[in-house]
Amino acid sequence: MFVTLLTTTPEAERVVATAARLCYAAVDCRALAERSTPEDDREMISRILKLGHHGVLEHAVFTFAVEGVSRALTHQLVRHRLASFAQQSQRYVAFDGGFDYEMPPSVASHPEMATIFKQAMTEAHTAYRRLRTAGIPAEDARFVLPNAAHSRIIITMNARELRHFFRLRCCRRAQWEIRALAKEMLRLVLVAAPALFSQSGPGCLAGPCPEGEMSCGEAPAVRSEFAALANGL
Ligand SMILES: Cc1cc2nc3c(=O)[nH]c(=O)nc-3n(C[C@H](O)[C@H](O)[C@H](O)COP(=O)(O)OP(=O)(O)OC[C@H]3O[C@@H](n4cnc5c(N)ncnc54)[C@H](O)[C@@H]3O)c2cc1C
Repeated sequence: MFVTLLTTTPEAERVVATAARLCYAAVDCRALAERSTPEDDREMISRILKLGHHGVLEHAVFTFAVEGVSRALTHQLVRHRLASFAQQSQRYVAFDGGFDYEMPPSVASHPEMATIFKQAMTEAHTAYRRLRTAGIPAEDARFVLPNAAHSRIIITMNARELRHFFRLRCCRRAQWEIRALAKEMLRLVLVAAPALFSQSGPGCLAGPCPEGEMSCGEAPAVRSEFAALANGL
């Protein structure tokens, strides 16, 4: 998996803090932005995060490029309706020369199962190539490609949606591959805008586990995991 933070709103924390201040100030916008220091901005963001005044987080936007992830992952990812996506097409891009794929660790750690898995990938590609050789268009031949096939996707989310995404997908109840992606995205935005993503992560960072009976039961370990992520920057 390769994850890059392609671009962000310039001065993302300043933009969000200025938007928040505007709600409560009688002075004009330029004065608001010019008067405040980065420390003021961080304090304001901390306050709005506590208050739940999260609408202003939507003014900061983050764009990621993601490669080497399975279609199983991207299918889950695109359920996040407030994000924007551009994904490599299996209609316009043909995989006649083969396709890369993701092997789950549970399979990779079991030599016999790994062999069965690889055979299935080879068979899928053989079928794909035969269909293509017979003149079947890529958009139809792709029906034999597996969930494991790698994809490329560009994702844009605002800070509010990202915090929501991290809450769901950094949780240990999330599927392992999308969880790994969410953790890496969180690591990248913590570097770019630490105040905006302070205490961001699975639901159990902010209080009791929201998963109820489905809880992993490991909230202390999860909290340590995300403290280590933030401290490792
Ligand atoms: C552990 C886990 C297991 C899952 N298992 C399944 C499963 O078995 N089957 C399945 O189908 N899905 C499953 N999902 C996907 C899940 O149901 C959601 O579709 C996905 O997580 C997107 O979440 P969302 O709708 O909150 O987020 P987004 O689409 O990112 O929306 C963010 C928020 O905006 C608001 N919002 C967005 N659109 C609307 C709207 N139209 N109306 C009102 N409010 C809106 C909501 O408050 C929403 O929480 C699973 C997700 C997780 C994390």
